[in-house]
Amino acid sequence: NPIWFSPETGVYTSKHHRRPLPQDPFQDIVSFLFSERHKGEIALLDSQSGLAISYADLRSMVESMAVGIHQLGLSSGRVVLILLPNSILFPIVLLAILSLGAVFSAMNPLSTREEIRKQMGSVQPAMAFTSLEKAAILDGARVPVLPVPENLNYDPVKYPIFHRMISCTPSLPRLPAIRQTDTAAILFTSGTSGHSKGVVLTHGNLIAMIELFVRFEASQYEKESWKDVYLAAIPMFHVYGLSLFVLGLLSLGTKVVVMRRFGVQEAIRAIERYEVTHFPLVPPIMAALVRAKDETRCELRSLKQVSCGAAPLSQKLIHDFLSRFQHVDFIQGYGMTESTAVGTRGFNNEEHKRYSSPGLLAPNMEAKIVDQETGQCFPPCKVGELWLRGPAIMKGYLNDEEETKLKIDKHGWLKTGDVGYFDQDGFLFIIDRLKDVIKYKGFQVAPADLEDVLTSHSDILDAAVTSDVDEEAGEIPMAFVVRKEASNLSPSEIMEFVAKKVAPYKKVRKVVFVQSIPRSPAGKILRRTLKSSHVASRL
Ligand code: AMP
Repeated sequence: NPIWFSPETGVYTSKHHRRPLPQDPFQDIVSFLFSERHKGEIALLDSQSGLAISYADLRSMVESMAVGIHQLGLSSGRVVLILLPNSILFPIVLLAILSLGAVFSAMNPLSTREEIRKQMGSVQPAMAFTSLEKAAILDGARVPVLPVPENLNYDPVKYPIFHRMISCTPSLPRLPAIRQTDTAAILFTSGTSGHSKGVVLTHGNLIAMIELFVRFEASQYEKESWKDVYLAAIPMFHVYGLSLFVLGLLSLGTKVVVMRRFGVQEAIRAIERYEVTHFPLVPPIMAALVRAKDETRCELRSLKQVSCGAAPLSQKLIHDFLSRFQHVDFIQGYGMTESTAVGTRGFNNEEHKRYSSPGLLAPNMEAKIVDQETGQCFPPCKVGELWLRGPAIMKGYLNDEEETKLKIDKHGWLKTGDVGYFDQDGFLFIIDRLKDVIKYKGFQVAPADLEDVLTSHSDILDAAVTSDVDEEAGEIPMAFVVRKEASNLSPSEIMEFVAKKVAPYKKVRKVVFVQSIPRSPAGKILRRTLKSSHVASRL
């Protein structure tokens, strides 16, 4: 594909050959996922106990679960809340929901009661799956709450409904046909500005993700994917973990070793014990591996490839990692919830090693680099906002037509809010972010959500939240606070107040007192102004 940038239209086309996507409008994600033949034996393996689900059992377990959920009265189109940590049962529950034509809305299991109530308010779930420990937090939710065990060796007395569901005969009754355009998932992100919002993804989006991201990548390396062993440390409720561990890799026959929670020593043990070959991660995990190598001299001999995404990565960390683990290939990828994790992906052949780039545009996808002020499209090596178009782009934001129109223009271009350029060879480089999102260890935090919490304090007149750089976490939420006159509220009191109301990764970790919050004439908080004046004050 030699014409990958058109000066006439300003459009970048993928350098990869187009991949055929299913044309049948009645194709659903679950039957698509199970359509590929492979020789894989073990599908999901629990890193702690070694208990596993085989490919021979995977599909029938999903079907049993689907029958069980159907018997509870879930109909197609209804939403199910998933509030679960990683486990080998997470994909079973999720695929069962999808096979019924129902919709899942996953959320971080560390979310607080308040955050869960808010998300439930917007997605109106018909039922919720969660852990036994979290079930109490959903008391009063007025929907059936279904506890899911952490593993297969559970006590049926403690999990009677789950046990009944997973023991059902796997034969589903006739269900309404599922269309590619039907909603499959609602995942929450910060969008460009304002509060967190639901990203609506269709069956077609998830199918495109499997084909253009996961199956495509496997085809690039001409490898036998069923021989690969992936370590699933990143959360399955986030689009990155969801795409790989719940959907994509299970279509290839790969063995997925699931960590219920991340710990660097546990990850090293799992890599060594299960001869893990691939480790998708985020920058803070990469930094932890570098430290572990220096402290414990771990070798990680089996590891072939580490891929990093979800947040910016420093040159130094890439260098430190490559010098410690010289036998490991390293690539970056770029994607976002709104693009079902599809975007760009690194590919290291001998002539094209660009470790600091998240790689080339995925097949069937188009991009533009746009001047935010003039709308002009830029050729290679000029910096602007990245826009994406293609079959993996979301349907829109849940119940928010206005925000959807701001994010996706009438020609289908998604404005990513990320700033960067393509080099002469088509490699993307991300250098800045226009949107308000804060990325704490790869997790999204919406500043407006924290501002609401801050201004609910009786001693706080006004507040704005932005990010500050942090060596370990990448970015941390930093609050600019205007106190009421005569108030002597301290930074630590403010941080404690917020910490009680939000999930741990959203905590405000720095407070700066100011006289006023700068706003545009339209009343929008000028976060970039605040941030740059803070940076300037430190120089
Ligand atoms: P999320 O929707 O949580 O996946 O967040 C998507 C955002 O994460 C993107 O819009 C970027 O701002 C950021 N991001 C993802 N991948 C990368 C990357 N490789 N380099 C820099 N930023 C990234």
